[in-house]
Amino acid sequence: MSNDAVNHDNRLTRRPFRLVICELSNKEAGLCCPVCGNPYVHPAEVAVEQGRTKTVVVCESTCVQPTERGSSHRGSKISLAFWCESGHRFEYRMAFQKGQLFCELLSCSGGPQTSSDELWRN
Ligand SMILES: [Zn+2]
Repeated sequence: MSNDAVNHDNRLTRRPFRLVICELSNKEAGLCCPVCGNPYVHPAEVAVEQGRTKTVVVCESTCVQPTERGSSHRGSKISLAFWCESGHRFEYRMAFQKGQLFCELLSCSGGPQTSSDELWRN
């Protein structure tokens, strides 16, 4: 857990993996909160770990840093963090290994939810 893409007082905990999709007003698919189903979901952070490098994209910056990820991981890891307007934070983590994509869902019930805690928008 030392490489959590989201670092807040409320710790993310693993939950059964699920994707909740709704139909938006324009008939396109929309991602909903996997905890409560709220369709008002904001993207907070994207992180990609490749080899010994981790790239983290947040609202104000894109940071490339060394990762402590061990050599036991043989493929890239992708983390997508979001929050919903009902107060849940959640993160999908995908790790590629031996030709398969392993998926995890983590969530917590709180944390900052402001415009600085979401990816850029106009
Ligand atoms: Zn929610």
